[in-house]
Amino acid sequence: MRNSGKEWDLLNKLDREENLTQEEIVILLGCRDRKVEEQLFYLADEKRKKYVGEEVHLRGLVEFSNFCRRNCLYCGLRRDNRKLKRYRMSLEELYNLAEKIALQGLKTIVLQSGEDLAYDAKSLASLIHRIKKLDVAVALSIGEREPWEYALWRDAGADRYLLKQETFDRELFAKLHPDDDFDQRLECQRTLKELGYEVGSGNMVGLPYQTLQSLALDIKKFQEWDFDMIGIGPFVPNPDTPLGEEVSNPEGKYLLTLKVLALTRVLTKTSNLPATTALGTLIPGGREKALSCGANVFMPNFTPSFYQSRYIIYPGKGIEESWENYLLEVKKMIERKGRVASTGYGNRVSSGSGEAGRR
Ligand code: SF4
Repeated sequence: MRNSGKEWDLLNKLDREENLTQEEIVILLGCRDRKVEEQLFYLADEKRKKYVGEEVHLRGLVEFSNFCRRNCLYCGLRRDNRKLKRYRMSLEELYNLAEKIALQGLKTIVLQSGEDLAYDAKSLASLIHRIKKLDVAVALSIGEREPWEYALWRDAGADRYLLKQETFDRELFAKLHPDDDFDQRLECQRTLKELGYEVGSGNMVGLPYQTLQSLALDIKKFQEWDFDMIGIGPFVPNPDTPLGEEVSNPEGKYLLTLKVLALTRVLTKTSNLPATTALGTLIPGGREKALSCGANVFMPNFTPSFYQSRYIIYPGKGIEESWENYLLEVKKMIERKGRVASTGYGNRVSSGSGEAGRR
């Protein structure tokens, strides 16, 4: 890199040491120079090649219930959103869907819902046990539950658990989550790690009251906790929530999200990073661009369209009617980018050196 200036010095340091301080991250996040931004994306892409290679892991997503006991201010699934028509899939429906996804050749099935206690731990454990016989990895994304429940599902064969912190800024967390506790959520993460799950976290970018300091802290915490998966998506306001009126700046939010993603790739090296749906909602082609900024995971949504249209965390999410066509399109897009759609389970290649999640 021939350019000079503070930001270019930081990019050189990032390339050399694959690390930055929180203050240094703030400087890069705040830089609006397009050449600096493009160089950061290029660097993240190079590190992605070095640490996780050309494979893009495909995870089949099923959103099986939109009931939620919580009231997060930004989320359309929040308990107090009376406008949302609620649904629950039966366990048999879920199994049949998992079977169809496995037949498409996908090797990970992600079971996601709001925090819905109507599904008891034992029934879910039986379902996981059945799905594991399809020769797939099972990832759960169903919120905060009791340690014994996490243990039961792990024993039944669950491989991964996604539980996004959304922000590591305590004050911001408290503002956005009126009925959730910052430390309790982290304690869940610690339990999951101890049980041997691959553990996922993540954040939202462009939240009201969020500062660049907050975002830089998120990135440092992702590194410190050494998460196996990290979902980074822009905040997209939902009019049916208390944050629905927030002024949005799609282009700025989009670029900032890509910068957070790129920095996370370099600092965490081997974590699996999805090209999140919200990026594609914000800007057409956003998910594709994310694959050039450090992302190595894509999660096609296999939820039947009549349910998907009610899983509205935020508005504007595209709904696919035909899986086969959609999957074909996704694979073509991956090929166009010179990448390879993985046929493996998509486990993390190896772990970094974070210590926070271990006792
Ligand atoms: S973010 Fe998760 S826990 Fe919060 S309301 Fe939405 S689905 Fe429920």
